[in-house]
Amino acid sequence: MSPAPRHGRGRYDVIVVGAGLSGSLVAKELGDKGWRVLVLEAGTGTLDTWPGHLDALDTFYGALAKVPNSPYRPNAAAPSPDVLDLTGLPSGGYRAHGYFVQQGPLPYATDYLRARGGTVLHWLGLTPRMHPEDFRTRRAYGYGRDWPLGYDDLEPHYRAAERALGVAGNAAEQAAAIGLPFPDGYVYPMHEIPRSYVDDVFAARLDGATVREAPGAPGTTLRVVGTPHARNSTPDRRYDGGLGYRPAGAAGLPNYGERCVGNASCVPICPVQAKYTPLKTQAAWDRRRVRLLTHAVVSRVLADGNGRALGVEYQEYEDPATPVATTRTAEADVVVLAAHAVENARLLLVSRLAGHSDQVGRNLMDHPVLLGWGLAGHPVGPFRGPASTAGLESFRTGPARRERAPFRIEISNWGWGWPTGSPGSDVARLLGIGADSAQPRGKGVFGARLRAALGEEIGRQVSVQFLMEQEAEERNRVTVDPRHRDRLGNPRPVITYDLSDRVKRGMAAARTVSGEIFRLLGAEDRTAYAPGPLSPGHFRFEGRGFTFNGAGHGGGTHIMGTSRGTSVVDAWQRCWDHPNLYAVGCGSMPSMGTSNPSLTMAALALRSSERIHRDLTEAHRPAAVGPPGAAPAADGRKEGRA
Ligand SMILES: Cc1cc2nc3c(=O)[nH]c(=O)nc-3n(C[C@H](O)[C@H](O)[C@H](O)COP(=O)(O)OP(=O)(O)OC[C@H]3O[C@@H](n4cnc5c(N)ncnc54)[C@H](O)[C@@H]3O)c2cc1C
Ligand code: SF4
Repeated sequence: MSPAPRHGRGRYDVIVVGAGLSGSLVAKELGDKGWRVLVLEAGTGTLDTWPGHLDALDTFYGALAKVPNSPYRPNAAAPSPDVLDLTGLPSGGYRAHGYFVQQGPLPYATDYLRARGGTVLHWLGLTPRMHPEDFRTRRAYGYGRDWPLGYDDLEPHYRAAERALGVAGNAAEQAAAIGLPFPDGYVYPMHEIPRSYVDDVFAARLDGATVREAPGAPGTTLRVVGTPHARNSTPDRRYDGGLGYRPAGAAGLPNYGERCVGNASCVPICPVQAKYTPLKTQAAWDRRRVRLLTHAVVSRVLADGNGRALGVEYQEYEDPATPVATTRTAEADVVVLAAHAVENARLLLVSRLAGHSDQVGRNLMDHPVLLGWGLAGHPVGPFRGPASTAGLESFRTGPARRERAPFRIEISNWGWGWPTGSPGSDVARLLGIGADSAQPRGKGVFGARLRAALGEEIGRQVSVQFLMEQEAEERNRVTVDPRHRDRLGNPRPVITYDLSDRVKRGMAAARTVSGEIFRLLGAEDRTAYAPGPLSPGHFRFEGRGFTFNGAGHGGGTHIMGTSRGTSVVDAWQRCWDHPNLYAVGCGSMPSMGTSNPSLTMAALALRSSERIHRDLTEAHRPAAVGPPGAAPAADGRKEGRA
């Protein structure tokens, strides 16, 4: 292997498209093994320095709407979808503007971020494992798609991902409360993030209580369970056979980067960088082997007539505000698409690749979220710590899955922040300037009365988030249409999205459960779903109104399976139609269960890296020197460079 060629031209062992979570992990693994890796990143890259991080914080503090993308400057060359792109209509339905072209009955209300570091820059950082049942819902419960591999196949890679991301959690509790299998004596790298006071209030009233999701349905017992997190806490000395674990510091300031101190702004940015981002993985790249080119929007994957990927075409731009680009190409033995589920599918469609099964772009999924909110009878201390530190996990598994989507319940530490925009919306309402003001306009309270009213109301806010499993459905899809292009001329994603009755039945059950939770808490249930500008995800089902939100968990667009006829990638995330083209990320997942998906995605990326290393080793094996017609290798192929 020779040193890396200059500036994005020439030949590499591997091209990775996207410097987000999965791309950063693949580049790290392959660079460490000595392969020359070119990472092409569509976004700009300023957050790897401490001044860049401070600039993003300032942008966030100055933003009027504190939404996931608000710390990160817009980029006209590599636009991203934003939750602000959607508006609900007064009588139901929605209007969409922005990057996505939406044409489904319901909006795909999920965003991502095209910047160096990717969407994980603004993720929450919850990293539960999937349940073994989630990998085989068709066999076990007759719906969805089964994985071509199971929990046991992925288990060692889960552990590797927990090391790579720096996970804090309690494995014994995960095993006992959820039934997750771990090897004997396994502990996470760091001790669990302490539970919040809100969690303790929930546990005191809910632990051991039984609720019914419908009259006559079997009872389900509740228990508050801590959630594993990719954020720094106290290292566990028992980790790695007693070797312990050293948490990763801040990008650009590696000796800084504190333990989670409860700033409560993890989405969209952690001021002290306690939360994992891929910039931490990138700081550990072997820079002799891994070359990163930002401002490089990959526009096409190039392939030969036999289906082998040759490399990519990309557009290099200078100024994200005025996108003028130069088109270049780069070549490699292996191409890895790690650009996010939606962008991977878009690139495959634009390149007209991997199309044999007609599944590219189909089976688009998320974890549609139903929110419930109430007012407790006494202060519970919200707006401290990460958005959620514990959940209720009893509805994730079991025979009820035959009828309705299962769900995981996150206990929110951030009051009514998600459902109503609190605390800003409360301040506006009490000042008499809010949009949905119960306080007559111009009749607000000020000074000491305002402070007292805020303390009285905000301190009692409780809410729960129901993450519904959404099964793979071919009708939910990403396509491209040459009539809809971005400023560099690349086709934008055209999205068709809806929720199945199975998901809607799950939401109906979740609504009943949230009412029961508030009853047990002694809280007044304030949940209300009505159409309107802030409710683009409003719909009616069986005579009742519901509003769902997106979770940001895009998946399923280059689905994994056991055959070329029915899936896009194999169990290694390698395209069936192209032996040296990989599509990694949540797009490969045939089902997403109810757990936040990125840990599973990271485990898959690490597993694929092993396979790519094997492919490259095989391809680079020196040719045997011998007389013409030398004996073929044991598997029937001639040895030598492929
Ligand atoms: C608000 C929010 C909260 C979330 N919280 C959690 C959570 O708590 N737990 C969890 O498990 N998951 C969470 N997620 C989901 C998680 O962020 C995603 O699963 C994850 O980021 C996907 O990783 P990825 O590497 O596939 O894509 P990304 O992280 O999106 O990275 C893709 C990269 O590719 C680049 N790229 C895109 N197109 C191109 C192109 N054409 N050329 C070159 N580069 C390109 C992008 O700029 C980006 O850097 C959250 C998501 C959101 C939106
Ligand atoms: S709670 Fe605060 S310190 Fe902890 S991860 Fe979130 S933003 Fe960072």
